[in-house]
Amino acid sequence: MAIQLVTTAAALRAESARLLTRRRGASQGLVPTMGALHEGHAQLARTAVAQNDVVVASIFVNPLQFGDAADLDRYPRTLEADLALLDAEGVDLAFAPSVDEVYPGGEPLVRITAGPMGEKWEGASRPGHFDGALTVVAKLLHYGTPGAGLPGGDATGAGLPAYRAYFGQKDAQQLALVRRMVEDLNFPVEIVAVPTVRSADGLALSSRNRFLSDGEREAALVLSRALRLIEERANAHEPLDLDSAQALVGSQPLVGLDYFEVVDPRTLEPLAENCRDTPFRGEGLALIAAKVGPVRLIDNAPLNS
Ligand code: AMP
Repeated sequence: MAIQLVTTAAALRAESARLLTRRRGASQGLVPTMGALHEGHAQLARTAVAQNDVVVASIFVNPLQFGDAADLDRYPRTLEADLALLDAEGVDLAFAPSVDEVYPGGEPLVRITAGPMGEKWEGASRPGHFDGALTVVAKLLHYGTPGAGLPGGDATGAGLPAYRAYFGQKDAQQLALVRRMVEDLNFPVEIVAVPTVRSADGLALSSRNRFLSDGEREAALVLSRALRLIEERANAHEPLDLDSAQALVGSQPLVGLDYFEVVDPRTLEPLAENCRDTPFRGEGLALIAAKVGPVRLIDNAPLNS
């Protein structure tokens, strides 16, 4: 295996600096993950490897973003397989710190607040989730900053390698919030969005899909079907007729719909016009979340017509 596993911030800094120097690297990419990697994560890694001289993938199951301790315990941990997947994609460094490394003094007193954008949709059923997620993303973006250990790297960032971080469109609310954090708080990093990877039948890949029974997995397909319906209407400049798409989801007894809305992709506020009766034009984002058996699933479709 060519990939190197590092578990401390100091080792990450040293190894990244060594690789950047050896390759005269002009750019570094960071792919933050919680492990249990699948083809969706592989696509993030592949995109990062194609665009950067050095690529770091982090694997960290962040306790701060889990409201429920049982959910945190249940989260799959598959480090050996994760390393093999990242290695196959050409990732240079896997950063898999312990909870103590990331939070040496216990849970941090000072945190990122996601604000009103973090309280709706996923945030409404998972209070505090996005505060915890943004807090760890902020830390990971700092850990993955290239050049901190390079000779000649200075505090102004002049002459330092370019820095990009990769996030999946699959987690649309997280992506919008990360973009907003980076913009509002001037993080010196470019956020790159990677389109959602799906299985052949349309189900968005997720580490949680492994908890679905065969019947539940089949039922879950209604989410991507409903999104596709909305997408087709948007592309045809038709009224989106969200009600009929919602009814389609409602017809599947194993699926408990939480929300299904069309929102502004930047603010995540529902699009008041455009989506029900009037022909759709412009940009939108269809968001869906549902419980299928024991598993909460989210999916979305960016709309642009
Ligand atoms: P996670 O490990 O679930 O926290 O996800 C790590 C990153 O992978 C996030 O940026 C996710 O949005 C992204 N991701 C997860 N599933 C997919 C998918 N099916 N397609 C594209 N990106 C994904």
